[in-house]
Amino acid sequence: MTSISGKTDIDWAAFAADLAPVEVISDPVLVKKRSRDFFWYSPLLNAELRSCFGDLVARPADAGEMAHVLSVAHTHDAPVVLRGGGTGNYGQAVPMDGGLIVETTAMNRILEIGDDFVRAEAGALMADINSALLAQGREMAMFPSTQDIATVGGFVAGGSAGIGSIANGALRDPGNIVALTALSVEQTPRARVFEGAEALQIHHAWGLNGVIVDVTLRTVPTRDWVGCLATFDDYAQAYAAGHALARAEDIGRKLLTTVDARITEYFPRLVGHIRPGKHLLVSMLPAEDVLRFQALIEDMGGHVDLVLTEARRTALKLPHVFDFSYNHTTLQVLKQDRKATYQQVGCPVPPDPKAIAALRPKLGDDVWMHHEFARVGGEIVTFDLPIIWYSTPERLAEINATYEANGFPVYDAHTWRVEGGGLKNADYTHLAWKKRMDPKGLLNAAKSAVWPEVRHLSPEAIEARKTQVAQ
Ligand SMILES: Cc1cc2nc3c(=O)[nH]c(=O)nc-3n(C[C@H](O)[C@H](O)[C@H](O)COP(=O)(O)OP(=O)(O)OC[C@H]3O[C@@H](n4cnc5c(N)ncnc54)[C@H](O)[C@@H]3O)c2cc1C
Repeated sequence: MTSISGKTDIDWAAFAADLAPVEVISDPVLVKKRSRDFFWYSPLLNAELRSCFGDLVARPADAGEMAHVLSVAHTHDAPVVLRGGGTGNYGQAVPMDGGLIVETTAMNRILEIGDDFVRAEAGALMADINSALLAQGREMAMFPSTQDIATVGGFVAGGSAGIGSIANGALRDPGNIVALTALSVEQTPRARVFEGAEALQIHHAWGLNGVIVDVTLRTVPTRDWVGCLATFDDYAQAYAAGHALARAEDIGRKLLTTVDARITEYFPRLVGHIRPGKHLLVSMLPAEDVLRFQALIEDMGGHVDLVLTEARRTALKLPHVFDFSYNHTTLQVLKQDRKATYQQVGCPVPPDPKAIAALRPKLGDDVWMHHEFARVGGEIVTFDLPIIWYSTPERLAEINATYEANGFPVYDAHTWRVEGGGLKNADYTHLAWKKRMDPKGLLNAAKSAVWPEVRHLSPEAIEARKTQVAQ
């Protein structure tokens, strides 16, 4: 079996034989399909990553099989990339060095539902976990809008926040990740349990520093959630209403999203349900709070267009309102026009509608705002995931510079380097754990620009760099 990636000289037929009895996929068409994620949102990433492929896919059925797979990879010095649902946006799951793709979707059992937690194998789908919890009157504290395809391991390794974050914080906030178990990549892989704050040593490391086999997440009581769509004449007004709702003590909420009127033209499913040409506020709130919500929206100069109980949503054959939030907003536009892309931008804290209004004309007609409200570290924050009509890398850089010059930090969505986007800087704690858990540096190593500089150091020496940088 020759190398599909063209980057390895491993005997993949022998490798596949060594993996038995673990399921393998070697058909080049299927291997190439599983070498992709949603990097194509970015024209820059698409150009760089579309011809990066792995060589073989392994699908272990449980933690024991996973340990066997990692041991075989260690013996053959094979590069390894973990893959859940493959819904990441920055090529996190793309095997840039070729090698083995380990897909976790067969490890999908829900292991335990406790009073306020759920423990599941890494490949369990977020939507399946939410369904199981619902039967017990609970739900996940947050979930990504990709919950039908995304795995819990992929969310913890690659995600950050989602629907629920306006109430319950980001994944990294204390208590949200209760624990996780990760395997090392060694001849005999070791399982290590990371509890509480320790889990942050593995969280959002893109599978570079350990292979997550199970995750325990906080759950919260479920509510009778209703999707509400309200419209406004002015974008800053919609944003101000979002902020008022985020602060309101007598209205529950698990989603608050504002969308520029021009983006709503790309929501064909909402035609006839929302006023055309208006700026949109998307929210989810408990049924008993709808009247208070309506009063607040009217006070803020808006209009409530649609109130969707689950029964009404089903009867009208409408999608969940969260299909118009987070990166699904971008997806709705991309479904119709692949020239669109997006960016990830932080906003002044506390949210300031005047700052948003002042920035809009400076950005130009090729940038259409879309904000998500969340609570991070106890504070209400917003971030902008604008639609950008892509023309050139220079124009994209100019848009980024305008945001930054006005006090809106850009967390670049157009880089495949773990240090380049949300993380901004090298995470030496993550890299020290990489040395401990993956001494040969086989796990997704290409994604770290800093790893080649530190791979020869001891974990303690890598961790010490954190202090040196801070001084
Ligand atoms: C339309 C759209 C909407 C989105 N909305 C959100 C959102 O609301 N919030 C959010 O945070 N993200 C969002 N994302 C990004 C992404 O969907 C989520 O982060 C999702 O949870 C990733 O799960 P996955 O199973 O698809 O992970 P994958 O894409 O398969 O993997 C993500 C990263 O985790 C690593 N990984 C996977 N499994 C393991 C494991 N068991 N052990 C170690 N490493 C592992 C992979 O190598 C990769 O680096 C969105 C993306 C799209 C395309």
